[in-house]
Amino acid sequence: MNSLYVLLTSFVYSSLLLCVYFYKKRMNKIENKLFVSLMITNFIGILLDIASIVITVEQHSELLKLIVAKSYLIYLLTWLTLFTIYIFVISYKRDNKKEEKIRKDLYRIITIFLGIDMILALAVSMMPIKFYYDGTNMYTYGPCVELVFLVSSLYIGIWIIRLLMNLKRIRDKRYLPVFAFIVLGAFATMIQKMYPSLLLVTSVETFVTFLMYFSIENPDLKLIQELSFARSQAERANEAKTEFLSNMSHEIRTPLNAIMGFSQLLLEEDIPASAKEEAKDILMSSENLLEIVNGILDISKIEANKLEIINVEYSPEEMLHELVALSKARIGSKKLEFETMFDPKLPAVLYGDSVRIKQIILNLLTNSIKYTKEGKVEFQVHTVIKDDICRLIISVKDTGIGIKKENIDKLFMKFERLGVEKEITIEGTGLGLAITKKLVELMHGQIIVQSVYGEGSNFTVAIDQKIVKGKEAVKTEALEHKPVTLNASDKKVLVVDDNKINLKIATKLLEGYQVQVEQVTSGIETIEKIKNGEKYDLILLDDMMPKMTGVETLVELHKIEGFQIPTVALTANAISGMKEKYIQAGFDDYLSKPIDRSELDSILRKFL
Ligand code: ADP
Repeated sequence: MNSLYVLLTSFVYSSLLLCVYFYKKRMNKIENKLFVSLMITNFIGILLDIASIVITVEQHSELLKLIVAKSYLIYLLTWLTLFTIYIFVISYKRDNKKEEKIRKDLYRIITIFLGIDMILALAVSMMPIKFYYDGTNMYTYGPCVELVFLVSSLYIGIWIIRLLMNLKRIRDKRYLPVFAFIVLGAFATMIQKMYPSLLLVTSVETFVTFLMYFSIENPDLKLIQELSFARSQAERANEAKTEFLSNMSHEIRTPLNAIMGFSQLLLEEDIPASAKEEAKDILMSSENLLEIVNGILDISKIEANKLEIINVEYSPEEMLHELVALSKARIGSKKLEFETMFDPKLPAVLYGDSVRIKQIILNLLTNSIKYTKEGKVEFQVHTVIKDDICRLIISVKDTGIGIKKENIDKLFMKFERLGVEKEITIEGTGLGLAITKKLVELMHGQIIVQSVYGEGSNFTVAIDQKIVKGKEAVKTEALEHKPVTLNASDKKVLVVDDNKINLKIATKLLEGYQVQVEQVTSGIETIEKIKNGEKYDLILLDDMMPKMTGVETLVELHKIEGFQIPTVALTANAISGMKEKYIQAGFDDYLSKPIDRSELDSILRKFL
């Protein structure tokens, strides 16, 4: 009767465990499936064990006793088989094996053991069994029981071998139920020797199953689903922010285009000197605003992991010349010496993201010029060439205000401006270096800062670029920028933009080249003009237009027989990779708004 109480306790535990486990959605891993099988098998075992006691007490038929006794023995074998499979699964060495192979191997193990179990179950059901009564207790013996005893000993032997083979990983908590079973199994056998009427095996198995619940990976799937939902919501919100920023940048750029275009035109007109100064100031402030808009757009793209490195072939020398010209313009009337030193071994053509490298260097140069009142800014580029890789070592050194030691770590954080209390007159957003660092990282490069507060700073960047053409192949004259006045009075250009002000600026800028300009405000009008046989030497086509975008217009234009007019995309959308996108869409080139004078110049030179 003592056994019955122990079994009833096990029954309660087992039922609770089943309820707790199935109450929540769980993982669908092999280990978890095995655990479920062990749990259910054990529950059936408890029922059989209780049944055998009840049957004996109530003196039921021999046949029923036979069925219950044999079912119980089959249960014992099945539970041990499943537990052995569990040990094989947790001790399976996965080391870099493919998921497919792991799955196959594990399923093979499971099939073999379950096959053995079925053969054993068949043997148990056929072999003879004998009963022996001691008052109200019924015991079984005979070949059938001996087989189960033998197989159990074999299984335990296999477990011990398996444990010894995996001594290194033995601390893994998933092995805990195995140890518990070996220790408690031995303990239960001893107790049973002393009190033969106390049957503990099923209860030990319940306890081991209970332990397994805490040792296998058993996360709450509902919680995981909620977390992943929250994450996708956050990602969506971030995407919305990026989209908003990109739209906003477009919206700001359009009026900025007008401000910059008209102030540029004013500067060329015959106006009083004071008005010219004011126009210059308007232009400078708009350039600053444009830089800020671009910075915000860049940082939001970096955060959304959308900033791509777009590699192209470029001439590093040409890029450096442009940078020097831009820096000199920024120094203006400031009492600053500007020294350059470029490695003569610099290859003629490199492969990399020249736009972003230029942005990195310009950021450093602009900062040095901004944060140095007097003295010197040194701009050096050294190279280390190995096989077809050229490491560019770019250093920008100044004798400016310098950076305090404790502030160096904060330097690359976004919106972090150091010592602004002292230098409130210096403009900036604190985005430049954060973007610079991210760009350098995206190109697998490095950036280092050395600075002494009050004495100056030295920023060094190292980036590897692929060499396309070595030094000897350079044609120096190709790099020299010779400003030739372009007279294209016999050429005709069609400008397409839905915004009237934009049309006015583009036309004014083009008039400087004496070209004949025609304007239309939609794609449909453009198509009509071409269909009517109008001839142009170039089309500047805005992309973001209502009803029909520039890209859609171009597709229609290409359908017109004999259409071969070079078409350049005109857009305020400054997302990186735009040029490639437009060229892929069939455009011959790309011009960003606000229209940069020199970019327009090179486009006209290329196509007229
Ligand atoms: P911004 O210049 O727009 O404020 P940056 O991210 O480019 O933003 O720079 C962050 C801060 O690092 C600056 O506000 C300035 O305090 C400091 N800094 C950057 N470059 C220099 C430099 N060459 N000399 C001294 N301080 C610098």
